[in-house]
Amino acid sequence: MDLQALGRGLARRCPACGGRGLFASYFTLHEHCPTCGLRFEREDGYWLGAMIVAIGVVIALFALVFLGGVLLTWPDVPWTALLIATVLLNGLVPVVLYPWCMTAWMGLHHAFVPGNRHETERPR
Ligand SMILES: [Zn+2]
Repeated sequence: MDLQALGRGLARRCPACGGRGLFASYFTLHEHCPTCGLRFEREDGYWLGAMIVAIGVVIALFALVFLGGVLLTWPDVPWTALLIATVLLNGLVPVVLYPWCMTAWMGLHHAFVPGNRHETERPR
């Protein structure tokens, strides 16, 4: 397992070289790494993994906020405030963490399935 690739992905860097500037805009990932040329989309459906990362983060934060809110305020739980907070959390976290989820997924995938030579070459 390549922990360096995972760390690079979690730091929003290229999992292969650690290069920065992977995004053309907040929601637009370049097709290849501007530093090493790694092709980011390794196969069709590749970004489903990034969705799974986002869902996992949302579920973890939801559980933390909901259970923390209930436990800290029991027995007078502010249900309406908790509902508003968790609905906002569920709606905003995937949008705010969108780029991070993509690079975290790339780092996770490269940690377990290292890239090969043809994946790092730019098309001619
Ligand atoms: Zn790179």
